[in-house]
Amino acid sequence: MSHEDFPTDEPAVVTCGLPYANGDLHIGHLRGYIGADAFSRALETLGQETAYVCGSDMHGTPVAVNAEQEGVDPEDFALDWHRQYEETFPKFNVEFDNYGHTHDETNVETTQEIVRTLDDEGYIYEKEIQVAYDPDADQYLPDRYVEGTCPYCGAKARGDECDEGCQRHLEPGEVEDPTSTITGNPAEYRKRTHKFFEVSEFADFLTDFLDGLEGTSNARNQPRQWIEDGLQDWCITRDMDWGIDYPTAEGEDESDLVLYVWVDAPIEYISSSKQYSERVGTDAFDWEQVWKGDGEIMHVIGRDIIQHHAIFWPAMLEGAGYNKPRGIAATGFITINGKGLSTSRNRAIWAKEYLEEGFHPDLLRYYLTTTGGLQQDVDFSWDAFQETVNGELVGTVGNFWYRSLLFAYRNYEGTPDAAVSDEVRDRIEGAIDDVRENVNDYSMRGVGGAATELAQFGNEYIQRNEPWKLDAESEDATQVIRDCVQIAKAVAVLLEPITPDKAQALWAQIGEDGDIADAHLEDALEAPPRDFDEPGELFEKIEDDRVDELTEKLEERVAAASDDDDEETESDESTDAEADGMSDTDDLEPLADERIGFEDFQELDVRVGRIESAEGIEGADDLARLEVDIGFETRQIVAGIKQLHDLDELPGEKCVLLANMEKAELFGVESNGMILAAGEEADLLTTHGDAAVGEKIK
Ligand SMILES: [Zn+2]
Repeated sequence: MSHEDFPTDEPAVVTCGLPYANGDLHIGHLRGYIGADAFSRALETLGQETAYVCGSDMHGTPVAVNAEQEGVDPEDFALDWHRQYEETFPKFNVEFDNYGHTHDETNVETTQEIVRTLDDEGYIYEKEIQVAYDPDADQYLPDRYVEGTCPYCGAKARGDECDEGCQRHLEPGEVEDPTSTITGNPAEYRKRTHKFFEVSEFADFLTDFLDGLEGTSNARNQPRQWIEDGLQDWCITRDMDWGIDYPTAEGEDESDLVLYVWVDAPIEYISSSKQYSERVGTDAFDWEQVWKGDGEIMHVIGRDIIQHHAIFWPAMLEGAGYNKPRGIAATGFITINGKGLSTSRNRAIWAKEYLEEGFHPDLLRYYLTTTGGLQQDVDFSWDAFQETVNGELVGTVGNFWYRSLLFAYRNYEGTPDAAVSDEVRDRIEGAIDDVRENVNDYSMRGVGGAATELAQFGNEYIQRNEPWKLDAESEDATQVIRDCVQIAKAVAVLLEPITPDKAQALWAQIGEDGDIADAHLEDALEAPPRDFDEPGELFEKIEDDRVDELTEKLEERVAAASDDDDEETESDESTDAEADGMSDTDDLEPLADERIGFEDFQELDVRVGRIESAEGIEGADDLARLEVDIGFETRQIVAGIKQLHDLDELPGEKCVLLANMEKAELFGVESNGMILAAGEEADLLTTHGDAAVGEKIK
């Protein structure tokens, strides 16, 4: 990889976390695939040679467990879903250059070759461990075959991940109070010999790697903490039949172990790139230049799989002699009407459903990419969707496109003969720079913003110059409309990564041939053809009663699902959260089981404070140094809120502070107390009345 700005001379690969081939796609999945698709298209508009590759994740217990429940072979089961995904993604204009799957020949071979190399290089060793076993079912219980309690945070956890709590990856044998998901019986632990990858050997490498990593800050900060806490070696084999066989050395007995799904899943990024090269030829795209040379590798993933991509994966690549990712963008979760997306409660917008309702895919693409940055959680409601579509796409972009092109058609039958004015040329050049900068910042929201703002400028420009009051033959009128046609074209070029169909339609309306996806940003400044036909409107308003109807439908569905749920205990076997950046169950930490006495609470000296100053700490991505007045004195506090708040706005704000927290030192700065905040976004707690500074919370 290079660290030059995009576009670089090297080819690039953009990937998105693989979907587990075991359930219907929904809006949580789509957010990631659409975001990565838009990013890959945006890189191409910069002139960066880019391939967007992905594939279905066929292995692992999420697939095996579901196939078993349906009484079908896991391969048939997974292939069925794989084919459905292949059909569904293009319907959302998610156009992979290659979409493979982890069970195909290329991936089996590539995986075995990489693992063999790691073994030959001495990074893999054998160790006897305790493995959960169900005596009634007479089988071992890897990963999702077992549930229990997370040893780190006490939340209910799956065998391989603390999905409802701290999101940590759990090693075999770690989950406490294991219960078999096959029979519901308590599991026994038995001794088995497994293979381990020496991740701990890569701590220094990973620290350097993270220092240079681009993308979202969460993909760097959490892993740094894990390295600081000490890296554990990683068990990479499982007692299962479904998976890729462990590749033993020549002359050795065949192994009865298969590789853990998280070994072969990311290798599909390489395999899928290989398949693309094989199809188009290495002259058009050379996978080795990317993966073994200096190419640019960018991963878009859900934030629940950061550890797999920012720790295990680069360590594997380094150990096997491959190139490392340049950027990792980890997306936040999707909430629905402010509540966690839940497939078991049917609180989701399903891909199929969205299409059946007859909405154009570009509307959802625009909503999902521009409502939040990649890292933020995005809330979806039909109300908010309507507001965005009617306000930005219909009101700003569509309105500008239609009125300017219609005016041009009626008076000039196309693009008037004139040169673009300096003012408009400068404004378009500014928007192009803005897009270039935002792509380099991995901000698709910024790209969408630059395009919409340019359309807004167009609306103001036409309004200000009132061409309808001028004689169409006049130089002034000709100039204004010539400018507007250019702005319309530029908006289409800038918006293409996000709304490719609509941009293509505009492209055709102004008489351009070919595919707008092949256009580069600079083409936004090229004159459109002279003649074009009467334009049509490209966006349609969503009416209020339509929104009411959809909201009601969703509420009824959720209510029906929770009625069914009353009968069953809380378990969710539907689609996995692997790539979709959402949590399967409500996105909330479970309540603590244990109660505490009032005395215990009294031991917490929690006070009302007022923030006097706030500044970032150099070298720390998300830490800020705060001075907080707590009545008796002013405390210096270090808090992980730099990325999440506008620090300039904090002074004067009231906050809530744990005053008798042990002192700590972070990045060389002493923290004397702890400021209280809610959730991943560190929403700062405050008081609503006029509680005095220093007042104790009780
Ligand atoms: Zn946990």
